[in-house]
Amino acid sequence: MPEKTIWRKRAEIVIDNLKRRGMNGVYFENEEESNEFIASLIKKGSTVGLGGSTTIIQSGLIDKLRTLPINLLDRYKQGIAKERVDEMRIESLRSDVFISSTNAITISGQIVSCDGLGNRVASMLYGPKKVIIQTGANKIVNSLTEAIERIHNIAAPQNVIRFSGDAICGKTGICDDEHCRYPERFCNSWSIIEGQSEQGRITVVFVGEKLGF
Ligand code: SF4
Repeated sequence: MPEKTIWRKRAEIVIDNLKRRGMNGVYFENEEESNEFIASLIKKGSTVGLGGSTTIIQSGLIDKLRTLPINLLDRYKQGIAKERVDEMRIESLRSDVFISSTNAITISGQIVSCDGLGNRVASMLYGPKKVIIQTGANKIVNSLTEAIERIHNIAAPQNVIRFSGDAICGKTGICDDEHCRYPERFCNSWSIIEGQSEQGRITVVFVGEKLGF
């Protein structure tokens, strides 16, 4: 499919640019191969934290992780109490491996994310020894401006709907940044990862599929 060919070519450019920023990148055509690769990066007995992510559910990564001999901080476990999920968010800050998606990656290799609570971006920035970001190639954008626009008009509105939030974008599909404030506002904590001091702490795993928001 032409779309997939374009995604692969664009991802290859991003992967080169991630390298120059001290980060790893790898591309897979499908979720299964991507999930196998991610599983191979995790050592037995590791504590693995998870960011809030539709991608890791859609890709089947969460199911793969559940089969591994690891201490998975499984915030998506059926019937889990909200209090335990809150604890897991804190525990994830000190995990061996933190797995998440992101909201946009620029062609030049900047990883752009936005959280309601901030726990996901906090773990991506500092704490976990390794960070693995699984993302659909559909999240590659041309610039930081496009990344922010993607978050305001594609990612955040869908998250607002997912969490039954009251922000206006969930009703209209259009961001009203100027007037969107507490308590409705979802776009509270932003991060732009431009690079890493520790080579290879972050690995971005691209999948040639439309995944997540
Ligand atoms: S700032 Fe508010 S209206 Fe805009 S995308 Fe975020 S939550 Fe929606």
